[in-house]
Formats: sequence, structure tokens, C-alpha cells
Amino acid sequence: MKVAVLGAGIVGVTTAWYLNQSGHEVVLVDRQGDAALETSFANGAQISVSFCEPWANAWVPIKVLKWLARDDSPLLFRPRLELAQMRYGLSFLMQCTTASFERNVEELVQLGRYSHARHKELVAATGIEYDRLEKGILHFFSSQADLDAGVAGAEVMRHHGVDRRVLTREQVLAVEPALASFGPNIYGGTYTPSDESGDALVFTQKLARLCEQGGVQARWNTQILALERQGQQLSGVRVRNAQGGQETLQADVYVVALASYAPALVNPVAECLNIYPAKGYSATLKLKRPERASTVSLLDDTRKIAISRLGDRIRIAGTAELAGMDTRLDSATAQVRCRALVKRYEELFPGVADPSEPNYWTGLRPSTPTNIPYIGRSRRLGNLWFNCGHGTLGWTHGAGSGHALAELIGGRRPDTAFNFYGV
Ligand SMILES: Cc1cc2nc3c(=O)[nH]c(=O)nc-3n(C[C@H](O)[C@H](O)[C@H](O)COP(=O)(O)OP(=O)(O)OC[C@H]3O[C@@H](n4cnc5c(N)ncnc54)[C@H](O)[C@@H]3O)c2cc1C
Repeated sequence: MKVAVLGAGIVGVTTAWYLNQSGHEVVLVDRQGDAALETSFANGAQISVSFCEPWANAWVPIKVLKWLARDDSPLLFRPRLELAQMRYGLSFLMQCTTASFERNVEELVQLGRYSHARHKELVAATGIEYDRLEKGILHFFSSQADLDAGVAGAEVMRHHGVDRRVLTREQVLAVEPALASFGPNIYGGTYTPSDESGDALVFTQKLARLCEQGGVQARWNTQILALERQGQQLSGVRVRNAQGGQETLQADVYVVALASYAPALVNPVAECLNIYPAKGYSATLKLKRPERASTVSLLDDTRKIAISRLGDRIRIAGTAELAGMDTRLDSATAQVRCRALVKRYEELFPGVADPSEPNYWTGLRPSTPTNIPYIGRSRRLGNLWFNCGHGTLGWTHGAGSGHALAELIGGRRPDTAFNFYGV
């Protein structure tokens, strides 16, 4: 079967890989000149099976109200006269109940487990190196109230079979001694040794090269303009090709892996995908004192940021801004938020990294109100499949969702209790 995979981020590339491995003829289409140049470019680097709680919970509406006025708050909501934002916002509020939270956690844990197993197999099979560290994820807290909430969160995760341990301050420092100078401010933490971290960009581009070597036809610099429908099928994809001309690409089956850009193309021809961009930022710094830098991947609860070691660099990533398709880095808000990441790193690890030449980046998390991605088949068009809306966890769920989609397209049921869309 000929399959067109639309979008070459981590999700599209893993999908192309597994489809190719299953014997399909695969075309991979992206507007960029290579893979992973958008949301998968400089994320928090965490493969985070255990820290997968959805944003929507019973306490979040009050927190968001408190954060509304602060430019440096972890979550910034900028209300707009925009149907997509209203749709997302209302559905999100409906998920802010304990019952929905529990249900969504269960789904995300299922997908995370399945995906981690596929990720390990894929790394073993391909030998791809990407600054991987299998040292777990450590979440630390700087107040008793935050620690209490973290302990309750760990309890929920343990209930779902995830090994998230509660640690005292001394145990936190034993797991990551590099936190020593910030130690007196730490009240405790939670830790999952089985989680890991690594560079999603490097991994995705290396896998894209292996895809091409294996026969996947990559169409770089190809802008998808519209999906064309005929009856209950997709009949083609109108694109502007690398030479600037327009053409229609045709395949038997189409997979949409276009992250936050999926609704604009899918909603006019099929069902309405409720995916909204949650802008995030990262700063990547060169290490001056690598021997004093952390190697365990960290979550700083106070600022809701992830800190991951990538070879001789450190990545600090986080914050979310619900403000439309804005990928500017030069706005006043973006500058405040980027600088806040570096400032916090300096508070935690004074003198360890070189803050003079930070590599700032921004990306749009393709968020759904439940945090659960659309992985499965369109309910309207028989030959259209989705692998999009991975929100905060696309790197974590990349291998699993790519593998699962190839299984589903091949008529097989993936070995997980996760509920696939439309299947
Ligand atoms: C600050 C931040 C930190 C994060 N940290 C983590 C983390 O620690 N762990 C984790 O698991 N996840 C993390 N994420 C989330 C993760 O990065 C995303 O979920 C993931 O990258 C989404 O992958 P994707 O392939 O769906 O999207 P993308 O990588 O954005 O891929 C979509 C592709 O579609 C292409 N495209 C879009 N529109 C068109 C068009 N019209 N024509 C042609 N091509 C098009 C784009 O060029 C792009 O290459 C983080 C995200 C952010 C922003």
C-alpha cells in the first residue's frame, strides 16, 4: 500500500519508519528542509512515562486565575476572539474534574508504557545515539505545600502502577548531588528511576536518514496547502513543492502528523480536531563546569520547568502560553519568559553553565483538552488516519504512537489497553 505521512516531526518520522518496516511504500512530506525543525526541535528532552499527568485537573482553574496577570507565570492564558481557543478552553474546563483526570491519567500511562517499550526496542535496533541518559526523572519541591501536592500526585501514579517514589531532601540530594547548593531550599521530591532523557532533534533526524536509506521518499520543503476529498475518501494532498510549483500527491492512505497545524487542514474536510497550540520555550546553555552539572533529568516544581543534560549542554524548558499560532521569540513576553529560564538555572546551579550565549527556542505543543493525542482513523474518511495532538508528551509517545499506527493500518491491534481514536 502507498502511504503518505504528512509532517516529519518525531511523530511523523516514527510513523514513516514503522510503516516502511511493515512493507508499505511511504512518502514523508514536510515544509521544512529536514525533520524535526518545528516542535520536536528543542523540547525538554524527557521520556516521561511517569510524569504524564494531564494539565486539566480539579485545582487548575483557580491556579490559572492566579497566574493570569504574571508574564513569567508557568501558564499564561491570553483570551482571544477565536473559535478554536474557545472550543479548546470549554472542553478543557469540562476535563477539570477528578473523574476525568483519573480516566485521562490511565490512558496516558497505558500509552506511555507501550511507547517506552517501543522506544527502547527502536534504539536497540537502530543504534541511534542522541545524548541519551537513562537516569530517571527527579521532581523537586521548594515548599511544604508543593511537596504535599507532589506526594498526593505520586500516590495517584502509584495507583496506576507507576513506580514514582517519594524522597526526603537528603534522598533528593543523593539521587542528584549537583543540586547541593540549592539543597537548603528543597523540601523533598518524587523520583522515577525508569524514565530517561535525550535529544529529540538528533534522534528524529537520524531516524529520518535511516528511513530514507530504507526507501522512504522524503519530500522536504513541500508545503501542504489542502487535503482534497472525494466522497468518503481523501483523494489527494495539494502541495507547493520545493520548486515552487503546485501539484497533487496521491496515496492509498494518508496519515496526518501535523501537530498544531492539523486542524486547519483536517477540519474543512473531515471531523473537527480539538488541538490548540500551547507555546513553550527552552534555553540551551553550554556547560562551563560539566562535572558540577546534573545528569538526572529534573522537574523544578516551582517554575514548572524541565532541566535535561545533553552531553556538554544543558536544556531548560517549560512554561505554556495559550495565545494562538504565535511562534515569535522576539516579543517582550517571549524575552521575559526565556530570560526567566536562564535566571532560574543560575539560582539552582550557580556558575555551572555559561549564560552569556543562551540558545533560545520556542515551539507550539499540540495540546488537546484531555492531553490524549488523536492516534487512529478518521470517523469520516476511510483512508485518513491521525497521529497528532501529542501536547506535552510527543517525544515520550513518539515511538509508541508511530508503531501503533502502523499496526492499526496493517489491520492489527496494538498490544495495549490505550483507546485508539475511531478504531
Ligand atoms: C517547551 C516544550 C518542552 C517540551 N518538552 C517535552 C518533553 O520533555 N518530553 C516530551 O515527551 N515532549 C515534550 N514536548 C512536546 C513535544 O516536543 C511535542 O509533543 C512533539 O514535538 C510533537 O511532535 P510532532 O511530530 O507531533 O510535531 P512537530 O515536531 O511539530 O512535527 C510536525 C511537522 O509538520 C510540519 N508541518 C506543519 N504544517 C505543515 C504544512 N502545512 N505543510 C507541510 N508540513 C507541515 C512541520 O514542519 C513539522 O515538521 C515539549 C514541547 C515544548 C514546546
